[in-house]
Amino acid sequence: MNLNGKKVAVLGCGRSGVAAARLAAARGAARVCIFDSDAHATCSDATVEFVSGAGEKEAREFKADLVVISPGIAADKPWALAFTCAGAPIIGEVELAFRYFGGRIIAITGTNGKTTTTALIEHILLQAGRSAKACGNYGYPFCEVALQKPQPEFAVLEVSSFQLETVQSFRPEVAVWLNFAPDHMDRYTRVSDYYEAKLRIFENMSEGQLAIIRVGEKMPALKPQVVEFSACVGSGLLRYEGTRIKQMDTTVADLKDTALAQAHNAENAMAAILACRAVGLKNDEIVPALASFEPPHHRCEFVAEENGILWLNDSKSTNLHSTEAAIRSQIRPIILLIGGKDKGLDYTPLIPLMKGKVKKCITFGQIGEQLRDTLKQEYDVARVETVSEAVREAANCATSGDVVLFSPGTSSFDQYTSYAQRGNDFCQAVRNILHI
Ligand code: ADP
Repeated sequence: MNLNGKKVAVLGCGRSGVAAARLAAARGAARVCIFDSDAHATCSDATVEFVSGAGEKEAREFKADLVVISPGIAADKPWALAFTCAGAPIIGEVELAFRYFGGRIIAITGTNGKTTTTALIEHILLQAGRSAKACGNYGYPFCEVALQKPQPEFAVLEVSSFQLETVQSFRPEVAVWLNFAPDHMDRYTRVSDYYEAKLRIFENMSEGQLAIIRVGEKMPALKPQVVEFSACVGSGLLRYEGTRIKQMDTTVADLKDTALAQAHNAENAMAAILACRAVGLKNDEIVPALASFEPPHHRCEFVAEENGILWLNDSKSTNLHSTEAAIRSQIRPIILLIGGKDKGLDYTPLIPLMKGKVKKCITFGQIGEQLRDTLKQEYDVARVETVSEAVREAANCATSGDVVLFSPGTSSFDQYTSYAQRGNDFCQAVRNILHI
């Protein structure tokens, strides 16, 4: 893509917007301007032209040749469309970076497990002495990787449905599809819209490339070659028995002494093994790296064990599917702390899954009341307002042998600015109550 002499409008002044603007400028664009509709927005890069509080009038007047949109903004919004009035195409930050990245791309999508799997693949590649950078939805913009000199051999790219909505020619060498479950119903009208957006990861791939997909996922016919994995059923190339990942009769890896032994993390490990094999690594380069991997925080993370009660922080559980995975992974009786923002999700599928596992539910936050009403037919439920009240309630009713599982099942934005802030608040409340 030749940007020489072109005017580029970047929509959204977050980190990926700033990175996109810097990349467009570095690749010869005549003028690059970041626009944000929020009048109070600020831009972290003073060298880039920036307009806050921009309306449709400013959008039309700019007469962009190319519009690069941030994943937080829907591309069909009238405000975004106003920038295209002179016929400019709209692409996302991932598509822009793709056009300027010369290395190899392993892309990871799924409703849950993307960040863990992205971090794991990067870790394995680095341990094997290859240059790799985890990026994308992971928190490090792909455009920043494309700006690096030299660029790494591998971009390990976490891609969300929002980012996939605005790809055009994007084509990874290896694509991982971890799982799919309803989510983001505050952005999408139908679950199928979310699914279709995610499927675009495979859109431009061809026969010589590889799609790594969990067994049982609903898939149309795909052009790339497909390999499957699953911790639950045995029909994929890799399966899980006890704590072992197996391929036919051979044990590929024993996860017993790793931080990945829970079934959902075993699936992330299987996907990572298959992705690393696909780019040429041998098992003896991959397997030792599993043992030294530390999963990112707030994902079924150990907080404390006092008086026989285990406290786990799974604040990154922002949808039902991840709470299901967390419940399935527990072998102790569970006190479940669940709640947060009302995202329009239906929680009734949790009810049968909790049977025989959850001894008490404590609901909190905006959806707390609705959740209590859904769950109280079958379970002992207490409803509180805040996370620290939930911790207090849990401490009152937990007994030795229990696990207190903080797995909210929805986003944190009713009371917090992020899942991390919510998780930190939970951990602090636990430490306070346990005096540790
Ligand atoms: P993502 O980046 O897709 O949100 P994370 O790795 O950050 O994924 O994990 C998010 C939540 O999903 C956490 O609660 C974690 O325990 C759970 N989780 C991780 N991997 C899986 C998986 N393969 N299947 C189901 N849940 C998972």
